[in-house]
Amino acid sequence: MSAKLFDALRVHLEGDQFTRRIEPQSISDLPAGEVLVRVDWSALNYKDALSASGHPGVTREFPHTPGIDAAGEVVASESEDWKPGDPVLVTSYDLGMETEGGFGGYIRVPAEWVVRRPGDLSARQAMVLGTAGFTAAQCIRELRGRNVMPDKDGTTEVLVTGATGGVGSMAVAILAKLGYRVVAVSGKADAVEWLEGLGAAEVLPREALTDGNAKRPVVKARWAGVVDTVGGEPLAAAIKGVREWGTVTCCGLVASPELHTTVFPFILRHIALIGVSSQNCPIEPRREIWNDLVGPWRPVGLDDMAEEVDLQGLNDAIDRILAGGVRGRVVVRHEHRG
Ligand code: NDP
Repeated sequence: MSAKLFDALRVHLEGDQFTRRIEPQSISDLPAGEVLVRVDWSALNYKDALSASGHPGVTREFPHTPGIDAAGEVVASESEDWKPGDPVLVTSYDLGMETEGGFGGYIRVPAEWVVRRPGDLSARQAMVLGTAGFTAAQCIRELRGRNVMPDKDGTTEVLVTGATGGVGSMAVAILAKLGYRVVAVSGKADAVEWLEGLGAAEVLPREALTDGNAKRPVVKARWAGVVDTVGGEPLAAAIKGVREWGTVTCCGLVASPELHTTVFPFILRHIALIGVSSQNCPIEPRREIWNDLVGPWRPVGLDDMAEEVDLQGLNDAIDRILAGGVRGRVVVRHEHRG
């Protein structure tokens, strides 16, 4: 088994350039760990693209196999909790950061990183959701934890920024399923129909949020909740428009890691800003979130919410996600040698 070969998308540092190529790897090359998983499907996240382009905040040691998401079957286990054939998924922790990740056909990880794929969730479906769906669900849990709940007449408005992105599109679909009125913000003028298809009741261009509001500490109160995936100016603008006792979650920084705001929206309207991190989410809430995602929160049309690529196509998709050009999720199919 240890000599078995599989393909991986490897990132190399050559001189001062980061390069990517598909290379054969051996299971014996994988890091130590209790559970060996055959990866049938992975997915592309913005963080993977940062790792694949040498962002030191994600990965410092090269050569490296990115991929923070992986789903497949246990092949070997030194842990009593897992046995060969178990259907599993692994997301976040250190996977794909400094630990060889899901862009290779096998991963070896600590037993506590492994989650049993619940219910009837296939490996592909688990990866359509992936870290993006998990993070969107964490954000929505935080909103509900502060009592941002849908009204009977569907007028509770939740704003989602970066709406065509992985986390954003999952948030739109889940919120719509739960009965919220979802207002999506997108920089892609041609994605309005697509976002409405996911369940957005209204789609705003990015400027609608920020224009004319720069000097005002608060604006007309509208959002009961916000799922922000971009940070920077859009997050600052969204905070100004939150209703009394409303809640804003922030998880991303594609617009900017900076946030310039005042205390006024917080002390005038009793609103909260909650940061969300999926990386080290403890195992109990992790399992609960996956159960919600498989059950009542499962987005309608989940199977069609992702573009499908192989490792070759992944290389191109990495450049597209860095340029903000991906719509929805990208899942990665692994083909195993006989
Ligand atoms: P994607 O690249 O899939 O989506 C990001 C979306 O943001 C884009 O599709 C685009 O949507 C919008 N966008 C891109 N550039 C800008 C810009 N300059 N200004 C405003 N909006 C922009 O990324 P993911 O969904 O995978 O991740 C989103 C963010 O969340 C990332 O920063 C990622 O690192 C973070 N993240 C954090 C996690 C955590 O645990 N905290 C977990 C997962 C992700 P549109 O064109 O529709 O506006």
